[in-house]
Amino acid sequence: MGFEPNTLETMQLIKELTSIPSPTGNTEAVLAFVEKYLKDAGIESTRNNKGALFVRIPGKDDSKQRMLTAHVDTLGAMVKQVKSDGRLAINLIGGYRFNAIEGEYCTIETSDGKTYTGTILMHQTSVHVYQDAGTAPRDAKNIEIRLDAKVFNPEDVAKLGIAVGDFVSLDPRVEIIDDAFIKSRHLDDKASVAILLSLLKKLQQDGEQLPYTTNFLISNNEEIGYGGNSNIPAETVEYLAVDMGALGDGQTSDEYTVSICAKDGSGPYHYGLRKNLVQLCVDNDIDYKVDIYPFYSSDASAAIKAGFDIVHGLIGPGIDASHAYERTHRDSLYHTERLVYAYLFSEMVK
Ligand SMILES: [Zn+2]
Repeated sequence: MGFEPNTLETMQLIKELTSIPSPTGNTEAVLAFVEKYLKDAGIESTRNNKGALFVRIPGKDDSKQRMLTAHVDTLGAMVKQVKSDGRLAINLIGGYRFNAIEGEYCTIETSDGKTYTGTILMHQTSVHVYQDAGTAPRDAKNIEIRLDAKVFNPEDVAKLGIAVGDFVSLDPRVEIIDDAFIKSRHLDDKASVAILLSLLKKLQQDGEQLPYTTNFLISNNEEIGYGGNSNIPAETVEYLAVDMGALGDGQTSDEYTVSICAKDGSGPYHYGLRKNLVQLCVDNDIDYKVDIYPFYSSDASAAIKAGFDIVHGLIGPGIDASHAYERTHRDSLYHTERLVYAYLFSEMVK
């Protein structure tokens, strides 16, 4: 299979996707972008009640189907409380630590759609005033938003229309360096969404028939655990989540290969499917790493937990410093895109 993905184009698409705020629970804008991208490519899509997007590509065999998913929702926060000095306490959306957002710029969206900017700071930030600036806990009590507005008390903040429950999105900080590295807070999982969109476009252009009817789900509730656990067609046998590979001490994954997950916090992924994925890499000269992600779960494991009788797998680009200042390399995107493509045309497990 001589497919050479245009990885630079995929990187540009990641840049566009990460630039649209989409904390879990407030993903409509990015889903509208994805919907338009597909429509412009001549691809029909539908939505479920949760707002997630589906594309069905009919294949030669309709009795056994595949599903692939990637998620557009990202980490974020919500206004928890307006403090007496007009600063905003926040409640986190998704699994991460407060230290990962200290100093980050952010945008607050009011319920009537107005937006305001701010900075996420420790209450005790100024070293000229606070002796414990370096040692005070980075937690819900001390971390707050300083609004870029002349506010002194909760009444001033209320006049702006800002209230408890407003969504807070984090600056995506997206940057492409020398056409090689891409950095952004939200590569998880917009890197994989861009890969699936690029491949859908290619399938549409080539008009080549897939061996099995294949359903693509762009999910929007993964970071809170139930993105891809519904609307799975009854004929689905294989379910592949395309999400990030986790890097760190003791991990095999890196920023230059596709990561194939053998097991994560939810347990082992389907052994037969994992072996098929490895074989596809060997057969197609795709650089890969098999790995275990200790504190992780995916839309595929969420589907299993929801009771679907499926063969589940998880692959993705290696993302450094996940759920914080994420980075990956073009090579990782390249090998991931090639593996997904090879998978789409491969025989099923059994
Ligand atoms: Zn993810």
